[in-house]
Amino acid sequence: MQAFHLSQPNSLDAALAAARSHGAKFIAGGTDLMQLLKDNIEVPTELVDLERVGLSSIQADASELRLGAMARMSDAAVHPDVRAGWPAIVQALEASASPQVRNMGTIGGNLLQRTRCGYFRDTGFACNKREPGSGCPAIAGENRLMAILGGSDHCIATHPSDLAVALTALDAMVTLHGINGERRVPIADFYRLPADTPHIETILQPGEMITAVTVRASGAARNSHYLKLRDRASFEFALVSVAVGLDQRDGVIEHALLAAGGVGTRPWRLPQVEAALRGKALEDAVFGDASSIAAGGASPAQQNGFKRILLQRAVFRALQMASA
Ligand SMILES: Cc1cc2nc3c(=O)[nH]c(=O)nc-3n(C[C@H](O)[C@H](O)[C@H](O)COP(=O)(O)OP(=O)(O)OC[C@H]3O[C@@H](n4cnc5c(N)ncnc54)[C@H](O)[C@@H]3O)c2cc1C
Ligand code: SF4
Repeated sequence: MQAFHLSQPNSLDAALAAARSHGAKFIAGGTDLMQLLKDNIEVPTELVDLERVGLSSIQADASELRLGAMARMSDAAVHPDVRAGWPAIVQALEASASPQVRNMGTIGGNLLQRTRCGYFRDTGFACNKREPGSGCPAIAGENRLMAILGGSDHCIATHPSDLAVALTALDAMVTLHGINGERRVPIADFYRLPADTPHIETILQPGEMITAVTVRASGAARNSHYLKLRDRASFEFALVSVAVGLDQRDGVIEHALLAAGGVGTRPWRLPQVEAALRGKALEDAVFGDASSIAAGGASPAQQNGFKRILLQRAVFRALQMASA
């Protein structure tokens, strides 16, 4: 592990000032970053600990949910208002990692965790995301777990966060703070596709941090569900996951929100499925037609073509569960 200086600011302004130095990085719960430091995959010279900055509140009212960036995953998952109004968020959190990791891991850190691509996490291999221009061994190598949507000739790694998938389906907004003040961006615009710069994963500017995530209250959010399919039942990342929110009246779908995980290089919205459901009856035949187009545009590698079918089936099942 490379030596670094640790600062522990006790205000947002002090944290932003500390993060101005070249090579600085924020640390929240440390559950992902510490491992990356130990493996020399991240080599910051300055760590800015966000523990004393605050930002851990969880607030909900009739119009929206606001999760502070430093709210613990476990606190958000047990919060009664979150459970009542945004069940897909709770289910995504409960399906993530382990209770120990969720007790330490934060909302902001979860959204910014790095990919689980094995080549990225092993400095013995080349990796364009870790070392731009060095190559992508996953494209012709072990790619069973990789993305089938949004990949490029430079990177096909999936985004690992379950929470980000639920937030993408529910049209969450991410609040950012940097030296130029505050800005709010839809989560759909927060993550970048890899294209030829897979090392740049988000629109965050140097020294800029996430301070909160907000999600509107709605019928679709109240009637939402997160389904995660994986190789083993716990402590495992998604092979395929689907977040669904359904707003229905008298058995007719007024509004459907869908996003998928484990299949895209970023949390993957499914607008074509949403359009196929709008105005239709809440019934299996409709779900079947809509789910059959879920993997449109997919471009699997040699070992992960199965994700196309798995995605269609997961969408169908998640729709059934959200409508039950
Ligand atoms: C064994 C294991 C299994 C796991 N399984 C899952 C799983 O199934 N699903 C899942 O979703 N996750 C899973 N995770 C990942 C886990 O959820 C993340 O490690 C955790 O959410 C990261 O939060 P943290 O606060 O510890 O972030 P840190 O490790 O402290 O930080 C992660 C990154 O975010 C940056 N950062 C943190 N907060 C901010 C902020 N507010 N603004 C700007 N940058 C910030 C840091 O600089 C760093 O780059 C697993 C982790 C482990 C170790
Ligand atoms: S898929 Fe992306 S993260 Fe994995 S080796 Fe290729 S460039 Fe690196």
